[in-house]
Amino acid sequence: MRVTPRLEIDLRKIECNARNLVQRLAQKGISVTGVTKSVLGSSEICHALLKAGVIGIGDSRIENIESMCHHDVLAPFSLIRSPMLSQIQRVVNSANVSFNTDINIIEQLSHFSLQKNIIHEVILMVELGDLREGIMPKDLMGIVAKTLLLPNINLKGIGCNLACRSGVIPDESNMSELSSLAESIELFFGIQLEVVSGGNSANLSWAFHCLNTGRINNIRLGESVFLGCDPLHRKPIEGLYSNAITLIAEVIESKTKPSQPWGKTAQAAFDCQTSALCDKSSPSDNSISQAILAIGIQDTDVAGLRPPSRVNIIGASSDHIILEADLQLGDEVRFGVNYSAMLRSMTSPFVSKQYLRTSNPMNP
Ligand SMILES: *Cc1c(COP(=O)(O)O)cnc(C)c1O
Repeated sequence: MRVTPRLEIDLRKIECNARNLVQRLAQKGISVTGVTKSVLGSSEICHALLKAGVIGIGDSRIENIESMCHHDVLAPFSLIRSPMLSQIQRVVNSANVSFNTDINIIEQLSHFSLQKNIIHEVILMVELGDLREGIMPKDLMGIVAKTLLLPNINLKGIGCNLACRSGVIPDESNMSELSSLAESIELFFGIQLEVVSGGNSANLSWAFHCLNTGRINNIRLGESVFLGCDPLHRKPIEGLYSNAITLIAEVIESKTKPSQPWGKTAQAAFDCQTSALCDKSSPSDNSISQAILAIGIQDTDVAGLRPPSRVNIIGASSDHIILEADLQLGDEVRFGVNYSAMLRSMTSPFVSKQYLRTSNPMNP
């Protein structure tokens, strides 16, 4: 049965994308953690990533990790956002590893791990310029010292995250700073860090082109695997599918209508600008073919949709997207999605998810 709106998710293409990146990065001594936060911790997608050779699954939400556990996904799970103080027990119960920047939280992780008689692993995140999460480099040694003293906590490594808040590009300079911080910790404390995690999909250019990746032996990938594109410039990555995920919506009205509204106008539901354009008292006779889709701002990021040719998006509200297009009632329209549109649709309960397993994709 046709269900709309829906996302068609081609698991083979996602698996191919992940395998391509895993293999190219392996040549650089870098492993891949698959990041599932943008796909609501989908266990189907998780299985595809694991088949492709990712070494573990990272998610920013404990709810997603719990859901993957309940769906019997067997993988090391990393909580890649700092745990909330109010969720420590859940973190210790479901995540093997968590990314941390605050010693108070690590103390609580230690407390509950001790109670449960398990070892919880910790990656310390370092601030290298993007100004999102991270310990300032000058404070790192002190926090490492305190972490090493805590019972039932294993310092698994360090990491950083760039490009997400301020768009700071991962490059030779900030990546070699991360490497030397790892070396200093190992030298000073006489320990071995198992993981030095350099960043996210925005690190791919650096990873492919730099001659010496230093101590960095892991990156965490979401967007590049699902959408086949490099988030720094949103350009397609060679050899990857950029059409693994498609959003499909259904036409619920199709009529010939004037191209401009009439009557006096003020603000529309999602428009802060008051259009001065329009104060027409009667419809113009400049008409277009207008179609309405049963999907809206509640279900996706309309600005992140790529419509097919001869279809233009000319408006949207909570539950409607308005097109200039020659379509009939009941027609389906297929859109490519960017990260924001994918994220919103994947996490919307109103958009059904259809997994394609049987496709035989031709070369991208
Ligand atoms: C979201 C996120 C990632 C993955 O980012 P992509 O751009 O989707 O590859 C990696 N690490 C952290 C800490 C994140 O929050």
